[in-house]
Amino acid sequence: MAILVTGGAGYIGSVTVEALEAEGYDVVVVDNLSRGHREAVADDVPFYLGNIGDRSLIQRILNENPITACMHFSAFAYVGESVEKPQMYFENNFVQTAALLDELIAGGVMRFVFSSTCATYGEPHTIPIDEKHSQNPTNPYGWSKLFVERMLSAYDNAYGLRFVALRYFNAAGATATRGERHDPETHLIPLALKAAAGEIEQLSIFGDDYPTPDGTAIRDYIHVSDLAKAHVLAVSYLENGGESDFINLGNGDGYSVREIVDVVSRVVGRDVPASLEPRRAGDPSRLIADASRAKTVLGWQPEFPDLESIIRSAHLWRAR
Ligand code: UDP
Repeated sequence: MAILVTGGAGYIGSVTVEALEAEGYDVVVVDNLSRGHREAVADDVPFYLGNIGDRSLIQRILNENPITACMHFSAFAYVGESVEKPQMYFENNFVQTAALLDELIAGGVMRFVFSSTCATYGEPHTIPIDEKHSQNPTNPYGWSKLFVERMLSAYDNAYGLRFVALRYFNAAGATATRGERHDPETHLIPLALKAAAGEIEQLSIFGDDYPTPDGTAIRDYIHVSDLAKAHVLAVSYLENGGESDFINLGNGDGYSVREIVDVVSRVVGRDVPASLEPRRAGDPSRLIADASRAKTVLGWQPEFPDLESIIRSAHLWRAR
């Protein structure tokens, strides 16, 4: 019995592989290393280099390993890039996922944990956002993930695929050994840390004309270890016969870009040089989770909900 983790060399995937191993699961990773890092996966974890849409590769993995469930992390996940290169997002995140699902179902792997996103909601009309909130994404990234959600529901109905689609809010922070190392980096917290360290000249603040108290956009930041823990709970929920579900993962607290800048500067003990820039295309103004379903359905409890601890963990990891 083993779990196939796609994108296991990426940020959230690699932390989850660690968490699965700590719970005694056997793990197999497939990753094309387009954005991940080979060294983020321990040497004793079986590793397959390639695309999730490569049907013969997936067939080979299923033939060579006793896979009973798949956690699907691999995807492109930059809102701004998705607006500029939608073709790349729909091909990688949707078309390749369809091929992966075909091969899993053909191979009898009927449990699937999917990395979905709060970007599937679009601009919210109620805060906090619960899972019944309407879904009308403001960018191709969100649509590429929503298409997969719709496909999963249809496959449950037609083929009996059982899934948990976890709608992440903003993943942040690090464990002692795994953290965020995107290239190029586009996320707020790592860029603010780089600006504080003098590694980049300044942080760009994308827009201060949002309908929020300080005019900058608000997000709900969740520690990557808490995300990983929810994945382990989701797979065990499916193993125990749980029904397919869509579940938010966030802390229920919203912080503006300017608040993040303040906390980063407090944690690092240095100013974060910043300049004001126009809004980034595709960004909603405010995304805050109602994560009560994660607690009631999965029994999830965040261990590191405090923003300062989240940012400190990212800082420590960068400085290791
Ligand atoms: N942001 C910013 N400057 C940056 C990167 C991000 O002002 O250099 C803002 C971005 O517009 C959004 C928030 O910070 O409102 C979080 O962005 P991030 O890219 O970290 O995550 P996303 O919400 O896009 O998943």
